[in-house]
Amino acid sequence: MRTVLHWFRRDFRVRDNTALAAATRLGDAVVAVFCIDTRWFTAATGKTGAYQAAFWLTSLKELSAALADLNIPLKILTTADPVQAILGLAKCLDVRTITLNREYEPAQIAQDQRLAREAENRGVDIKSFKDGVIFEAFEILTGSENPYTIFSPYKRAWLAKLGQSPVQNAGLPAKSPVTSISSDPIPDLESLGYPAVTLPIPTGQRGAAALLDTFIQKKIKFYHKDRDIPAVPGVSQLSAHLAAGTISIRQCVAAAVNQGAMTGNGGAETWLSELIWREFYRMVLYHYPHTCHSAFQKKYEHLAWENKPELIAAWCQARTGYPIVDAAIRQIQQTGWMHNRLRMITAMFLTKDLDTHWRIGEQLFMQWLMDYDQASNVGGWQWSAGTGTDAAPYFRVMNPILQAQRFDPDGTFVKRFIPELANVPRDFIHTPWEMPPLLQSQCGCIIGQDYPARIVDHATARIQAIAKFRA
Ligand SMILES: Cc1cc2nc3c(=O)[nH]c(=O)nc-3n(C[C@H](O)[C@H](O)[C@H](O)COP(=O)(O)OP(=O)(O)OC[C@H]3O[C@@H](n4cnc5c(N)ncnc54)[C@H](O)[C@@H]3O)c2cc1C
Repeated sequence: MRTVLHWFRRDFRVRDNTALAAATRLGDAVVAVFCIDTRWFTAATGKTGAYQAAFWLTSLKELSAALADLNIPLKILTTADPVQAILGLAKCLDVRTITLNREYEPAQIAQDQRLAREAENRGVDIKSFKDGVIFEAFEILTGSENPYTIFSPYKRAWLAKLGQSPVQNAGLPAKSPVTSISSDPIPDLESLGYPAVTLPIPTGQRGAAALLDTFIQKKIKFYHKDRDIPAVPGVSQLSAHLAAGTISIRQCVAAAVNQGAMTGNGGAETWLSELIWREFYRMVLYHYPHTCHSAFQKKYEHLAWENKPELIAAWCQARTGYPIVDAAIRQIQQTGWMHNRLRMITAMFLTKDLDTHWRIGEQLFMQWLMDYDQASNVGGWQWSAGTGTDAAPYFRVMNPILQAQRFDPDGTFVKRFIPELANVPRDFIHTPWEMPPLLQSQCGCIIGQDYPARIVDHATARIQAIAKFRA
């Protein structure tokens, strides 16, 4: 019997999984494997946060159950060298073919290249598939065959190509014959050193399907209007699912297209545009791998950042005195997710107002986010810092007060996460330091005692940030 090994990486689903479906066609039987890579998937490494770890482990349990229905056992390897561990397992099982869906981060690409070399030496065939994107980085190029660095023309080219080649769903894989190989238990959070956390959204491919369904039924129509209001549940919250692959990008794009994304339905059109941003950042990281640690725009690489520990600590501990920033930091720390508008506000505040290198924020988000995705996170941070592709120009510094007044006018979101400000009147909710002392006593919020005084003056910080970039 010809057994094929499928290596799960960030494609935790059985439905519409290109490489898994191919594995069932290529072999008589399929065995699946996931590696707990101890170089990044334990609390001690500080690289995968508790929320993402919890989301992944819970989703893996559900994946293992779904695979069992197809008679596909899921093996778990805990290792610091996945290439050796996978090839070792292949040898044990007498496997000649390994299937996997391609990854696009620099470290993953290097690992897959090594796998391909070492597998070839051992006579094992690696079959890799496009799955996590609609179009790979080299499929959308400018007329002169260069990568795009500006989003709008990339998006136009992407949409034109989608019009020519509609998405194909890989469907459900075929059932394998019953095997004597058993699945391994999925480790729990504690065994990897993580504290217990409560996940804010349903996990696994079922959770993803339920979220997509609710989004399509109730929210997508209003998405273009609601997506910037953090107090309104107007977004899909599918990012952790897209990052873990519990839903395929094809399912999301097909849903957007069915809802009129290509024919003028504002909500669906805007949502599709966000999905294209995800692909844009993947393309950028693929073609410019240095951007995971250095500025995309080389002229900004040598900017001096103050990186003051006390200011960074205040930002991390939600003690900046700017309610919208502090509420956003509490949201990410208490739920593992932060609204997109707030990611932009907090990232700009850290880089511009607090003069902190974007990489520090990028690494902190990596540890906090349940949906951490290197390409989107680096892209978002470089955009906010003004150093990235198509980034906000350096002189456009978001004003956290005006942003808050515009997108959370009554302070509904702020009060949800900062109960200390519950009785602060609307006129002062985003500038509590301006409350007269008597009013502070009346609403039970003494600034500097019940809620911190602001750590910087935005107007001054803005002028300094612009001067630094200009110089
Ligand atoms: C500083 C910063 C850091 C970020 N870090 C991440 C990250 O680590 N992982 C991540 O998935 N997204 C990241 N984003 C992008 C965006 O904030 C999240 O994808 C979005 O908030 C997720 O919520 P949602 O699923 O409800 O999105 P929706 O509004 O429902 O959008 C649907 C999907 O489109 C994609 N998407 C939406 N906006 C963007 C965007 N601006 N860039 C890239 N993809 C997008 C996501 O996959 C998202 O799930 C970051 C943005 C910023 C400004």
